[in-house]
Amino acid sequence: MRLLIASGYVIDPSQGINAGKSLFIEDDRIVGLLSQSDDPPEGTKVVDATGLIVAAGFIDMHTHLREPGHEYKETIASGVSAAVSGGFTTVCAMPNTSPVNDNAAVTRFVIEQAQRAGLANVFPIGAITKNSEGSELAEMGEMKSAGIVAVSDDGRSVPSAGMMRRAMEYARGFDLPVIDHCEERSLARGGMMHEGHWSLILGLRGMPAAAEEVDALRDCALAELTGARVHLAHVSTRGAIEAVRRAKEKGLSVTCEVAPHHWTLTDEAAQDYDTNTKVNPPLRSREHIDAIIEGLRDGTIDAIATDHAPQHADEKALEYDQAPFGITGLETAVGLAFDLVRQGVISIERLVEVFANNPARIFSLENRGTLRAGAYADVTILNPAFQWTFDVSRSKSKSRNTPFDGRAMTGAAVATIVAGRIVYLHPDFQHLIGFEHKALAKSGST
Ligand SMILES: [Zn+2]
Repeated sequence: MRLLIASGYVIDPSQGINAGKSLFIEDDRIVGLLSQSDDPPEGTKVVDATGLIVAAGFIDMHTHLREPGHEYKETIASGVSAAVSGGFTTVCAMPNTSPVNDNAAVTRFVIEQAQRAGLANVFPIGAITKNSEGSELAEMGEMKSAGIVAVSDDGRSVPSAGMMRRAMEYARGFDLPVIDHCEERSLARGGMMHEGHWSLILGLRGMPAAAEEVDALRDCALAELTGARVHLAHVSTRGAIEAVRRAKEKGLSVTCEVAPHHWTLTDEAAQDYDTNTKVNPPLRSREHIDAIIEGLRDGTIDAIATDHAPQHADEKALEYDQAPFGITGLETAVGLAFDLVRQGVISIERLVEVFANNPARIFSLENRGTLRAGAYADVTILNPAFQWTFDVSRSKSKSRNTPFDGRAMTGAAVATIVAGRIVYLHPDFQHLIGFEHKALAKSGST
């Protein structure tokens, strides 16, 4: 099967490409870029990408798919459906399912369910410790053989520095990055929002920024001690970002990601006690958002990840202190990230870098995150000018927990191609495909 994504604007920072080109795909691989005058072989299916941006497939480094165990919130099938409609060709599945993905059997189950769904690629992340309880290391080697790309006890921090040191030394032996959810438990315990002005006014127990910073500093020190690859999940505080900046200056292998809600909303959003503002780490105050913006601008922050965390409506309907943490994010991340481009915080090249190139590099996803010849034909097609409103009632996720319902956005992924197959096409852009290319100049030639 041959596919030509014709006349788009190809942006691929991995090759330094930023030009009007056509992208030629054969079966599940990229063949290469054609200039506008080159003719593809007859019978090639064409996607007309005139006026659109063609980028390597976006990768979400941080997704909670909830299967196995919590299929009433999300299944792997519904999760990947939400992923491709949000422009993601690949998601990395966090292990806090039931059972926890702390062994090869669960890893294999996740991969098999993803293959059955046949939409986005799913790379599982294995647990650092058994049942993510923080006391005994999980079998990282067996999980790596089964297909995990990183380890994390996300949802919780690793409780002691000694255990984290052993985890890093062990993971390093398998060349697996260690992802930490930075939350020093004795500081954060019982907290349900950011500790500050608004937690006082609302009478809700706060989590101080220092809880994240203490663990971020610990992890950077341990990265230096062990030489492990360390990735900090969903950084949300000035101190954590500063810790990563210093670690990078020292040349340590430390990277981090940020989630869109952490720069889009402040802790003030909790004032109506809407549980769709209850996330962990919590929405922060303005000074922390300024630090996130600066980290995105100067490259300290490597990636944008969704932390897509579906929760059932009945559970989110509980009182603020009883409701679970988390919001969905796969279908709003790209739209919210385009805000940053319009505000001049990041360039469109950097948008592609933080969604595609860098996630692939950090998790060593070979032949992904790039449009190089021979890479997997995973492509995200973007329309930076497309105006739309997020309507959660039409979400592909099984859950509806988002603070962004009804939000007007400009910029979206309009088509998602995985392994050479168009797995998502925005309803307003159906006209872009459906005709067979006929060689015009040289009839009969291929
Ligand atoms: Zn987390």
